[in-house]
Amino acid sequence: MQNIKNSLTFKNLLKLKKKGILHPSNCSARAYFDIFDSLGASSLCSDSLFMANAHLWGGWIPLKKYLSPSSSKLFNKKPILALAATEPKTGSDFFGMNTLAKKSRNGWILNGEKTLVTNGTICDHFLVFAKTKHSRDPRELSCFLLDANVSGIKKAEVKKRIGLERTSLANIQFKNVFVPNANIIGDYSLGGEIFQYAMTWERSLIFSYVPSLLEKLSNQILKLAKKRKRTNKAISEHPLFIKKRERIHTIAEDIRELISISATKLDNKENAFFSAIKTKVQVSQKYEEASRLLLQLDGKNSFLHESPFEENFYNSIASSLYSGPNDLLQMVLDEISI
Ligand SMILES: Cc1cc2nc3c(=O)[nH]c(=O)nc-3n(C[C@H](O)[C@H](O)[C@H](O)COP(=O)(O)OP(=O)(O)OC[C@H]3O[C@@H](n4cnc5c(N)ncnc54)[C@H](O)[C@@H]3O)c2cc1C
Repeated sequence: MQNIKNSLTFKNLLKLKKKGILHPSNCSARAYFDIFDSLGASSLCSDSLFMANAHLWGGWIPLKKYLSPSSSKLFNKKPILALAATEPKTGSDFFGMNTLAKKSRNGWILNGEKTLVTNGTICDHFLVFAKTKHSRDPRELSCFLLDANVSGIKKAEVKKRIGLERTSLANIQFKNVFVPNANIIGDYSLGGEIFQYAMTWERSLIFSYVPSLLEKLSNQILKLAKKRKRTNKAISEHPLFIKKRERIHTIAEDIRELISISATKLDNKENAFFSAIKTKVQVSQKYEEASRLLLQLDGKNSFLHESPFEENFYNSIASSLYSGPNDLLQMVLDEISI
């Protein structure tokens, strides 16, 4: 695997940073939805857009809300951020995590391991979730801001994966890492609340680039189908092809509507927790359905060699896992029958 720091994906991320997109001072969810909805149609690859979204909703937005204004130096530096919660032995069970922060003089000593951390090998700082006691008590879970280059941190790209192959996705080990008291984000017992806040933004907006990405891919498949004849007609003229493309465009519009509802709630400062879960589950299902249609419309090409449709299909599969597995999130929705 290519070093992500030397890759086009990372260069694209830095371009977004230069344009000011990665560090809004006041974030309007609606405005951000519109920005990424247009970027999905651009030449930027999905990996860089995914990394930008992970940084914004998992890092920048919670940091802006919970980190004290006295940390303005950090804000001025405009760091790239990564949220580190998932562990090899505990994934969706957030309060079952094992990473431990032990009190020491002037700070904390952190030990533990995280996995599948988006931006993990390229970020400047981590938001690391850790327990302050071996217990499931939510008050014993904190969020620490960690300079990614201090000693005791080991980072390695997750090498084998089926999608998002150009994304920085890392395993991170923390071995006796010292964290000063000032680096606790918010109050020391606010880990659960901060995670929930980050996830509400992430689940609402992480797919903002997907509708225009699907439309872009659908237009690419149309171009290809115009050149491929079956039963004396270009494939693009067959009613089945036309119907499938229409479905893809309907899905893109449905996704826009779902994200729009959550974005409005966020901007109106309404409780967006459940609406964000609903958006995440339904959008990722629709993303996968449209991606499967695109794969099929490309016929044998998708199977024979790497194609944008194959890559997009695997990326869409990952969407049912990150920001919480769909089936577990659906259980939450069923309980409140939303
Ligand atoms: C592309 C990608 C990017 C990611 N980025 C990040 C990141 O930046 N930071 C981060 O911290 N994490 C990240 N993750 C990790 C992601 O958040 C986890 O994969 C997710 O939380 C699920 O954890 P898990 O895979 O261990 O699933 P598990 O917890 O093992 O769950 C898998 C399945 O087991 C079943 N199951 C589990 N628990 C229960 C239960 N209580 N009751 C019934 N059934 C159950 C469900 O069917 C569930 O879907 C990323 C993952 C991916 C794929």
